[in-house]
Amino acid sequence: MSVGTIFDIKKFAIHDGPGVRTTVFFKGCPLGCWLCHNPESQSFEPELMVRDGRCNRCGDCIEACAQGAVSLNEKTVHIDRNRCDLCGACADVCLAEAIEVAGREMTVAEVMHEIEKDVVYYDESGGGVTFSGGEPLSQAEFLLELLRSCKRCGIRTALDTCAHADSGVFRKVAVYVDLFLFDLKIMDDQRHREFTGVGVDPIHQNLRWLVERGAAVIVRFPLLPGINDDEENIRAMGGFLAALDNRPPVDILPYHGAGVAKYDRLGREARMREMPPPSAEAIEAVARRLAGFGLHVSIRGERL
Ligand code: SF4
Ligand code: SF4
Repeated sequence: MSVGTIFDIKKFAIHDGPGVRTTVFFKGCPLGCWLCHNPESQSFEPELMVRDGRCNRCGDCIEACAQGAVSLNEKTVHIDRNRCDLCGACADVCLAEAIEVAGREMTVAEVMHEIEKDVVYYDESGGGVTFSGGEPLSQAEFLLELLRSCKRCGIRTALDTCAHADSGVFRKVAVYVDLFLFDLKIMDDQRHREFTGVGVDPIHQNLRWLVERGAAVIVRFPLLPGINDDEENIRAMGGFLAALDNRPPVDILPYHGAGVAKYDRLGREARMREMPPPSAEAIEAVARRLAGFGLHVSIRGERL
């Protein structure tokens, strides 16, 4: 049975598909968006996250660290990430939960054990499980086993994906997925490469294939001011989706800046720190523009 790397399992999620859901977050993503709101999802390796505000400077973690990587300053704990070997001993002894290791290996059975605890809520609400990330398709065999296990248990599944994956892998996985939450950011190949590090071809090919075979798809458009809210991108996206045989609905997810604190916890620079969220008027204008292409458009799940 395969083992995968998971960085979180969120219970009673209500924004990752219909009904009450369990969202399983896979660690690692082939894209490198510098605006990612889950930066701990990007690396395939475990990472240490530190919540400065929780640290009471008790010093227990200093004694626990065999690498001498932990010290205290006048306010909080400091980790020397060059010395740290990610053993997790500091997180284990920290009663204040100021230190956390993001990312741990889990077997399919362990993940299914968590998922199956809430079957009664899925049944009552029309919910299920959502595999998210990171990019679940980057751990395709693990994902496939989880999807098959859910099918055997009668649990409905959703896949939150950027779909930057080999078409053979994508199609093998797709037959077990009940709903796709398909992330579409920037239509122009060069601009997409500049923002994410990868091109658009496999993403667009996989989306075309999905909608042509009648799969249930919601396109999720993260609206990023100054990055993808320009007329050229909106027009290209609207035209691309309107030309598909089965036009998928579009859900706009406005940038909100909540991920900035996570960059701090990871000890990484947050390049978007000063970036404001889009105004309500700007969000509405983009929604109306996309609706003008004959698309069903919602904003954070609320229909126009
Ligand atoms: S064990 Fe936790 S609370 Fe104590 S110093 Fe270390 S990080 Fe701070
Ligand atoms: S994870 Fe291990 S090596 Fe890294 S700071 Fe904590 S105790 Fe030290």
